[in-house]
Amino acid sequence: MASKRILVTGAAGFIGSAVARRIIRETPHSLLVFDKLTYAGNLASLAPISNDPRYRFVQGDICDANAVREAFEVFQPDWVMHLAAESHVDRSIDGPGEFIQTNLVGTFVMLQEALRHWRGLKGAEADAFRFHHISTDEVFGALGETGLFREDTPYAPNSPYSASKAGSDHLVRAWVHTYGLPAIATNCSNNYGPYHFPEKLIPLTILNALEGKPLPVYGKGENVRDWLYVEDHAEALLTAVEKGKIGETYNIGGINERRNIDVVHAICDLMDEAAPDAKIGPRRDLIAFVQDRPGHDLRYAIDCAKIERDLGWRPRETFETGLRKTVQWYLDNRAWWGDIRSGRYRGERLGTLVSDGKAAS
Ligand code: NAD
Repeated sequence: MASKRILVTGAAGFIGSAVARRIIRETPHSLLVFDKLTYAGNLASLAPISNDPRYRFVQGDICDANAVREAFEVFQPDWVMHLAAESHVDRSIDGPGEFIQTNLVGTFVMLQEALRHWRGLKGAEADAFRFHHISTDEVFGALGETGLFREDTPYAPNSPYSASKAGSDHLVRAWVHTYGLPAIATNCSNNYGPYHFPEKLIPLTILNALEGKPLPVYGKGENVRDWLYVEDHAEALLTAVEKGKIGETYNIGGINERRNIDVVHAICDLMDEAAPDAKIGPRRDLIAFVQDRPGHDLRYAIDCAKIERDLGWRPRETFETGLRKTVQWYLDNRAWWGDIRSGRYRGERLGTLVSDGKAAS
């Protein structure tokens, strides 16, 4: 296909960097990364592509309309893939203010600047322009033992994070219907894989298991999530921005439902196999059940039949193959996570303030 200019926000983060690496590795497109480099942004995740002439990086805040406008004017994107967000539920419990700013106000700024840019385009360029908003299945709330989230499931967000993402989804919908902005949105399940910041369940468990530290499991570990391998997700996102129908939303899932305790058991067994350590012993003995997250949603599960039927995408990895690749990546890439573990973030517990009645603003 003809090469496009793609502006990707939040591409120094976990999913955005997978999208960026895939764009350079597997497409003829060129890329502008627009990222504030918060604690979650890491240029080391873009190092494999940073010397490519089709790659450019701008450090900027999506809440800063002037900076966003300049990026549009200089780069003249054909497509915008908007991933920049505050993304961690536990952090949203401790400090929801940042989530409202970045996820709601920031998405508003992105929509306004995309609209201004699109209105300045003519003919085929205007027809080809797309704004792709990347969101989460957490906007749908929690499921009981059965059922699946579909695209038409009513919104019922439960955490400050999911409420801010739900609000941003509604803004996107309104900009399509009110102003005709050619936008699509996707809602995906829990991602895992290489370059994942080690505060999330899977990388935290892998690294604590490697170091013989306790493996914290919230509550009884019975919460169920659908797990999507990040490389599969990146492929789905590029499929959606290319082929998605304006105004539509698409659910993206891994078709891999697992209880948290089963995820942790699987990691323990893989670590015992790939990195046995007599001093540490069987990793399952390191599991430590800790106080549950306030308002922890019981189960998320996603029906991704629409994207398969309409756009021809389905995940390639099973949980077993994806998890094996992930464990091996962390064992092989100590330099990437070593700095994070030793400095800025040491794997401490987040998201408990509300239970002490001390929720920050
Ligand atoms: P992440 O936290 O790893 O990365 C977020 C990136 O956004 C970082 O590089 C950060 O520096 C950047 N950023 C934050 N605030 C910014 C701002 N104001 N201006 C510019 N850049 C800013 O997030 P992720 O896990 O890669 O998630 C990406 C997107 O996918 C988010 O929109 C998230 O809501 C959504 N999502 C993630 C998951 C998941 O499992 N990780 C699941 C569903 C949806």
